[in-house]
Amino acid sequence: MLLAIQERCRWIPPAAVERLAASLGLTPVFIRGVASFYSFLSLEPKGKVIIRLCDDIIDRHAGLDAVLAAVTDELGISAGETTADGAVSLEVTPCIGLCDQAPAAMVNDIVLTSLTPETARHAARHLKAGKPLHDLVSPHFAGLTPQQRVHAQVASNIRAPGAVLLGEVPREAGLRRAATMEPRAIIAAIIASGLRGCGGAGFATGRKWEMAAREEASRRVVICNADEGEPGTFKDRVLLTERPHLLFEGMTIAARAIGAAEGILYLRGEYVYLRDHLEAVLAERRAAGLLGHAILGCGGFDFDIRLQLGAGAYVCGEEGALISSCEGLRGEPKTRPPFPVQRGYLGFPTVVNNVETLCHAARILDLGPDWYFAMGTAGSHGTKLFSVSGDCRAPGVYELPYGITVGELLALAGAEDAAAVQVGGPSGVMIGRDSFHRRLGFDDLATGGAIIVFNGSRNILEIVDYYLAFFVHESCGYCTPCRVGNVFLRQAIAKFRHGHASAEDVEELRTLSATIIETSRCGLGTTSPNPVLSTLSHFPLVYAAVTRPAQDGQQASFDIQSAIETARGIARRRSFVYDRDFSQ
Ligand code: SF4
Repeated sequence: MLLAIQERCRWIPPAAVERLAASLGLTPVFIRGVASFYSFLSLEPKGKVIIRLCDDIIDRHAGLDAVLAAVTDELGISAGETTADGAVSLEVTPCIGLCDQAPAAMVNDIVLTSLTPETARHAARHLKAGKPLHDLVSPHFAGLTPQQRVHAQVASNIRAPGAVLLGEVPREAGLRRAATMEPRAIIAAIIASGLRGCGGAGFATGRKWEMAAREEASRRVVICNADEGEPGTFKDRVLLTERPHLLFEGMTIAARAIGAAEGILYLRGEYVYLRDHLEAVLAERRAAGLLGHAILGCGGFDFDIRLQLGAGAYVCGEEGALISSCEGLRGEPKTRPPFPVQRGYLGFPTVVNNVETLCHAARILDLGPDWYFAMGTAGSHGTKLFSVSGDCRAPGVYELPYGITVGELLALAGAEDAAAVQVGGPSGVMIGRDSFHRRLGFDDLATGGAIIVFNGSRNILEIVDYYLAFFVHESCGYCTPCRVGNVFLRQAIAKFRHGHASAEDVEELRTLSATIIETSRCGLGTTSPNPVLSTLSHFPLVYAAVTRPAQDGQQASFDIQSAIETARGIARRRSFVYDRDFSQ
């Protein structure tokens, strides 16, 4: 409801909050609490058009500053402001899943990619003049099919189609086989295939389905997690664009396996431009008897899927937070146990699987678990989609068997100059050249798919600082170690960046990181210090080069930011939290 109001009014006016509260029997404070959680919902008036420039580290390296300068110059406003006539608001936002074609921007429900200062200025001028938004994509936009509209905006950049997902894929073969099988046999096939969750955590998919199926319940739910918010990850975007039938086939097979009649596709708000395309595919499947009652003519095989849009919150990629969001709440993680397979969406057993995982499941049912098990390594079977971006000649999506080395993937992507690679996005690890022989997979370097390449000209501490700023921005704020600890961690990194750190500060970084990891409630907090820890481990010389010995009489760990915090409060000067305040 809040999303519908936001889309219609471009903000959530107080009168709408009051009416919504009254009609739902909730308090206005509750409604505001939900609305204020999500970046794309606003309790302040916004322009008719909202430009959200992607402020990812890759966009910065690809020329974001010049693009932003062109837009602010053309509109006469800074980021965070709205033009006086209320026509256009300008904002910056973390990764929108288009790192392979950065710099990029969302403009209401469309996206613009590979921006230059010239194209960005042209778009700003077009919008300022009140011209039709969709003309920015194509003058024939209205006449295009939903999938053509997606292709007109975003290139899929499939660089290596593999054997499972991005090569030739027959339609519905897995589902037709599953319809003839007992649920227990479907689960047994998935277990035998060795399929593990492709979102990053790698939990055994078949075991997850088995646990949900075992629960006594009147209702079960399948949720597809299409909230790929990890900076540098965009492979699910490509599957949603190119293989939506395979995804819905996989969801339907999961539903048959666990006995669910209800499915939810939770689509990240940044992928709103995919909504019409996915809704059209769902409608096509209902018309073809592949969703709804008696699927494929099988009595009792009832299942349908609704699409739910997120609203700009990275933490909603976490299973419990995603379920909270599906329930219409703030996207806060839930305390475990109980686990979602026991009590998930609205208290019912719920299987949450990543887009890629569900697509793999459909192919396994088609070609059998042995075929799948034979690919990959001892601990990681099948293929994996890698989203490669940054300093390389061929950014895009690569489907390759698990076990490929980082160096082999870099060679395919034309990244001969790579000096550092962020494997798995900010929550993963950053490795240097001496680790490019390592293998991608759960046996060695696990990743949800993000491979971000940095050449030798990039500043490692600047990247670490950016990633910490990202976690500070995205923390849901529920627990203190994550909410406050990451701010402290960022302040500590600032000392290194400004040449004020000593050897004691390295220990301080480690101690603080350990505290955050041990005491945070969800995966965001437990992985947020990884940019610090992995660079300390793989790039110690970067820290050593800017660390100075403590002078006699100086307190090495003295932190001026903390020391002046009280004075700041008295003077009512705000703290420096997110480094790029473009409104200044
Ligand atoms: Fe929220 Fe961070 Fe705690 Fe997770 S670790 S619940 S994101 S505050």
